Amino acid sequence: MSTSAVSRIHKNFINGDWVEARQGRTFENRNPADTSELVGIFPSSTHEDVNAAVEAAKAAFVKWRLMPAPRRAEILYRAAEILVKRKEDMARDMTREMGKPLSETRGDVQEAIDMTYYMAGEGRRLFGQTVPSELPNKFAMSVRDPLGVVGMITPWNFPMAIPSWKIMPALICGNTVVIKPAEDTPLSTYNLVQILIESGLPRGVVNIVNGMGPDAGAPLITHPDVSAVSFTGSTETGRIVNQACAPSFKPCHLEMGGKNIIIVMDDANLELAVEGAVWGGFGTSGQRCTAASRVAVHAKVHKEFLDRFAARVKSLKIGDGLDPGTDVGPVINETQLETVMKYVEIGKNEGAKIVAGGHRAESGGLSSGWFHEPTIFSGVDPRMRIAQEEIFGPVVAVISFSSFDESIEIANNVKYGLSASIYTRNANQAFRAMRDLQTGIVYVNAPTIGAEIQLPFGGTKGTGNGHREAGTAAIDFYSEWKTLYIDYSDRLQRAQIDAEL
Ligand code: ADP
Repeated sequence: MSTSAVSRIHKNFINGDWVEARQGRTFENRNPADTSELVGIFPSSTHEDVNAAVEAAKAAFVKWRLMPAPRRAEILYRAAEILVKRKEDMARDMTREMGKPLSETRGDVQEAIDMTYYMAGEGRRLFGQTVPSELPNKFAMSVRDPLGVVGMITPWNFPMAIPSWKIMPALICGNTVVIKPAEDTPLSTYNLVQILIESGLPRGVVNIVNGMGPDAGAPLITHPDVSAVSFTGSTETGRIVNQACAPSFKPCHLEMGGKNIIIVMDDANLELAVEGAVWGGFGTSGQRCTAASRVAVHAKVHKEFLDRFAARVKSLKIGDGLDPGTDVGPVINETQLETVMKYVEIGKNEGAKIVAGGHRAESGGLSSGWFHEPTIFSGVDPRMRIAQEEIFGPVVAVISFSSFDESIEIANNVKYGLSASIYTRNANQAFRAMRDLQTGIVYVNAPTIGAEIQLPFGGTKGTGNGHREAGTAAIDFYSEWKTLYIDYSDRLQRAQIDAEL
């Protein structure tokens, strides 16, 4: 059931029922391309709603963990099939609440489809190990146990993909879920969970509690019956989540900011590098944690690259993501627009030069949305704030360098470590970059965005805390190892002591 083009009153989903927030409060979900359009009204929840959702998830865990994983997988397969059928409606809903162009929201839904199929496949794997025992007549192996109730807190930039990265691996491992979606994009989580329900998910296995971070997210993290937490969002909030989990040693998966770089060497295919920088820097209006907010260019090709890059960026069409001609949509909300404008001022004051954009975009019917021109700074010193801090908007800092070693030093000298890319035709340089870039993801001859769901996703330093999303790495977070020893010798055998047969 799509909600396209209709604004609706939505509810929380607790124990298989759609219910209002206990205190009856709500918030509005508005279209960032035109804030006069109300996309929907959602409940503004508090700890009371969280408690009810966790209680439901805890009760549902008793049976769900015992359902054979291949049976759980069948529900996921069905969900993936429905997602395929509804892809277009889901994408349109997402563009209305989030703003990115339809081609990108289709990609977001596709990522949820890919992840759902992939994790359904895991239902017949969930590999453990069997290893030889050091003692005779003894069997040794490891299996994966679910954790229990997992609390999830998600951001607005990938409104369906990120919830699917968390929900699908959690479910296939046998966990139950309470999710608090981003307050800017609750509709896409609603759409995803609606499909899981239609696919036969038992009541209580996934629960949605909508609302603001401090009111609805914070009590989820600290709830004693929540066994693990998965968070994607800003580094500041990630620190709060991490600290809230620490006293009870609660496993916590953090996916946070980035200050990703594209390195363009003097032997690069410049046309390709320009296209990569346009897509990496301004796709999703720069609001991806993997966005290329820095482009470092070898001095020998700096001028040529910058001229071509600026010309391409000036030709990008800003507008409503539902319009097929749009290249760059709005930013998500007023606060984000103010942040972008603040950083443009900071960049100017630091002495960097604007070579494209630089202003809020209001003319041509854009004044009722949160639009900003795609903006390029040149002459950026790598120590400037615009080259160090995550802006999360359509602003790219171009830095000049004169040697490979210098480019790697610039790349690594930030507090984040998510994604990096190098454009070069020199295989030796490419391999050295793959070895020396201190990021969780490295691309060669491709921009910093474009992760596929079958490999680990995540970063080092201020980006993450060692866990990874996607691929089998996600299974590692959403399950706990249990090691099993079965002795069929009918006598006491002491490991490390009884060596002879
Ligand atoms: P952004 O600034 O990009 O919106 P946030 O980190 O603030 O990023 O938001 C990511 C998610 O974290 C959202 O779902 C938000 O509601 C939630 N959140 C924000 N503050 C808190 C908090 N104190 N405790 C738990 N969740 C929070």
